[in-house]
Amino acid sequence: MAELKADVLVLGAGMVGVSAALHLQRRGRDVILIDRQELAGEGTSFGNAGLIESASVFPYMFPRDFTQILQYAVNRSPQVRYQFSDLPDFLPWLVRYFLASSPDRALHSAMAELPLIRRSLIEHEALIAEAEVPELLRRTGWIKLFRSDATLASAVGDFERARQYGVEGEVLDRQAIAAREPNLTGEFAGAVYFSQPGFVPDPGGLAKAYTALFKRKGGRFFVGDARSLEQQAGGWRVAGTEGAAVAREAVVALGPWSDLVFRPLGYSIPLGVKRGYHLHLAPRGNAVLNSPVLDSDLGYLLAPMNRGIRLTTGVEFARRDAPPTPIQLERALPRAHALFPLGDAVDAKPWLGARPCLPDMLPVIGKAPGHPGLWFDFGHQHHGLTLGPATGRLLAEMMTGETPFADPRPFAAERFK
Ligand SMILES: Cc1cc2nc3c(=O)[nH]c(=O)nc-3n(C[C@H](O)[C@H](O)[C@H](O)COP(=O)(O)OP(=O)(O)OC[C@H]3O[C@@H](n4cnc5c(N)ncnc54)[C@H](O)[C@@H]3O)c2cc1C
Repeated sequence: MAELKADVLVLGAGMVGVSAALHLQRRGRDVILIDRQELAGEGTSFGNAGLIESASVFPYMFPRDFTQILQYAVNRSPQVRYQFSDLPDFLPWLVRYFLASSPDRALHSAMAELPLIRRSLIEHEALIAEAEVPELLRRTGWIKLFRSDATLASAVGDFERARQYGVEGEVLDRQAIAAREPNLTGEFAGAVYFSQPGFVPDPGGLAKAYTALFKRKGGRFFVGDARSLEQQAGGWRVAGTEGAAVAREAVVALGPWSDLVFRPLGYSIPLGVKRGYHLHLAPRGNAVLNSPVLDSDLGYLLAPMNRGIRLTTGVEFARRDAPPTPIQLERALPRAHALFPLGDAVDAKPWLGARPCLPDMLPVIGKAPGHPGLWFDFGHQHHGLTLGPATGRLLAEMMTGETPFADPRPFAAERFK
């Protein structure tokens, strides 16, 4: 059997792994990108809402508001649902998430991530230009709609706070909503429009375009199972269908599946998942959606993807591998039909994905503390499309001894000791 040799094996060809591979390659490393799928970008990076969320200064923290917690507890929130039978599996994680969401700790997480968020669109723009796919980035910004005065007022408060960190946009009244999105129908209290974020109308396509760039520049793609990773003299080895790949260093970028590799090596990093669904629908007649729209109080988002209008849901707490239970999607469908002229579904069945999340809402980036040559780059929560290239740069700078553009210490695996 053939043995391919390189400097680095990157395990996982989602947005995070592909971006890390490109940044390592740019710094002179010979990289083999490994996935169990034949194509890149077929995991979580395939199905997201397409937002390069450069306006998302504050991560999604566990709510502290009693009414909202109660709504979550009785499973009546449109934004969040949990699978009761799986509760024993994720309750300890939820407790850690709740504790990490105190105002002080949430602000600490937000400030740690801010340099990455600020860098997110810049890094994508550079890669999109190099990959020659300008059609995969639209500078439309996005709209967060509110049905009630109370939720609008709270969102305007958050927006004012975010403005202090450079976030731009405007508060829209009904007329201004109609001017931006003439095809929306409903009783809206108002909306917040974020003007800076980018929108990717085919997120899986973008990961594939970045992989094509990586290959054009001499990178190799290898189909193999990351669970076969083993340490051997002088490095790491992964077995594949057509031989093995070996290198001095390896990067775990397996998104929600990263635990399949780090757990057998003895790490008890609390990687959890927040599941989410999507379904594409055809727009009716000549109806056009100009930008992604989050129907915030009703808990779903519509995004004008190349394949059709993609409806994505909020968060479902359930085991990563539990069978799909697309209840949120079923509840959102009539609401979405009332908001925008939608025709038939384009997909035969809903897509299910899992946002890889740590309780403090920060990714794990840096050395595997107990294994020389092994690196981590996973747990990008709601922002893996956004942060893939920025965290790829950070990781590559750390691996090659450059001065990192952001302080990497808050992302260290050691924080979970
Ligand atoms: C509904 C929804 C909406 C979202 N919206 C947004 C958004 O608008 N903006 C945003 O920034 N983020 C969004 N996200 C989050 C974002 O999609 C994720 O954070 C991101 O895709 C994670 O990327 P990744 O590369 O870490 O993981 P993945 O894309 O899941 O990649 C992991 C890769 O590992 C491979 N793999 C798994 N197991 C093995 C194995 N044993 N051997 C080899 N390979 C293996 C998989 O095939 C996959 O290719 C959303 C997520 C969901 C679910």
